[in-house]
Amino acid sequence: MRAILVREFGGPEVMHLDDVPALEAGPGQVLVTIRAAGVNPVDAYVRTGTYPQKPALPYTPGFDGAGEVAAVGGDVVSVKSGDRVYIANDNLGTPRTGTYAQQALCAATQLHRLPPNASFAQGAALGVPYVTAYRALIVRAGARPGETVLVHGASGGVGIAAVQFARAQGMRVIGTAGSDRGMQLVREQGAEVVVSHKEPEYTSAIMKATDGRGADVILEMAAHLNLDKDLAMLARFGRVVVVGNRGRVEIDPRATMARDAAILGLTLFNATWADLGVVHAAIVAGLANGTLKPVVGRELPLADAASAHEAVMKSGALGKIVLIP
Ligand code: NAP
Repeated sequence: MRAILVREFGGPEVMHLDDVPALEAGPGQVLVTIRAAGVNPVDAYVRTGTYPQKPALPYTPGFDGAGEVAAVGGDVVSVKSGDRVYIANDNLGTPRTGTYAQQALCAATQLHRLPPNASFAQGAALGVPYVTAYRALIVRAGARPGETVLVHGASGGVGIAAVQFARAQGMRVIGTAGSDRGMQLVREQGAEVVVSHKEPEYTSAIMKATDGRGADVILEMAAHLNLDKDLAMLARFGRVVVVGNRGRVEIDPRATMARDAAILGLTLFNATWADLGVVHAAIVAGLANGTLKPVVGRELPLADAASAHEAVMKSGALGKIVLIP
């Protein structure tokens, strides 16, 4: 079968499409035919070799994907051949292979049913982005219906998921994006107010949209650029969740005081198995009832994994980038 192999850590060019031996499902394992693989920024961080998670070389990248069950090992009863599934980490440390391939070996705990109204490309957009968005919005921020949520970086994989979850829960959403097409896409997801995070005066537009009150919750995709400004855009008792960050930033802690504000960190890998059960139930139900509709902005052939990694690290997001084996 064909798979992307990384033989040394480095830039996008270290990913090569290769012929590798076909995989076989052993006890407790499920062999999935991958129809689409989700490309996440974390895949690019891991590839550089500087991320805390450092796989043994050579490895096939990719945490997220969707496809059909091709075969199940001995004691697997939760899925059967032909089932449509999406793949997401179970945070149990169970070994698995990467999704940038025609096949992946997973544990049954890493598979969830993909409702018939969701395409495989949409299924590949779920694992990291939707689980992160749910944890940020519901678990960490404790956002409630009626609250105003600023999704700061709403045009990408996590941002779109957050807008959809917030709208489904009855929250008012303000979103930001860096391109006209990105802003249009965020508007189409139901954000009431959309501003460009590239405009110098965008924070004033957000304060105006909240009548000077600020947002109750800010989900921040670029904390190294925005955290100080976020604190000044928070309402009293507001919460900022740091979802994405790529460097250091200076903040004025005084801005948190009068507001009783909280800055909350988040890593997807801290979600417990029990937490994940709740999140995936919410995702599958949201797909089935139509409140969650992953947006796939770009589909590229597996051979273009390097271009996909370049694109996922650049501005101009339009939802999810997926690779088609
Ligand atoms: P993505 O699909 O590449 O989207 C990136 C988003 O960041 C886009 O909406 C982009 O907007 C936005 N952005 C760019 N410049 C910005 C700025 N100055 N201010 C605000 N937003 C800006 O990535 P993703 O999958 O959504 O992930 C978003 C971030 O969260 C990444 O840094 C990722 O590593 C991180 N993340 C963290 C966790 C965790 O466990 N903590 C989990 C998943 C993701 P434009 O492209 O329109 O400019």
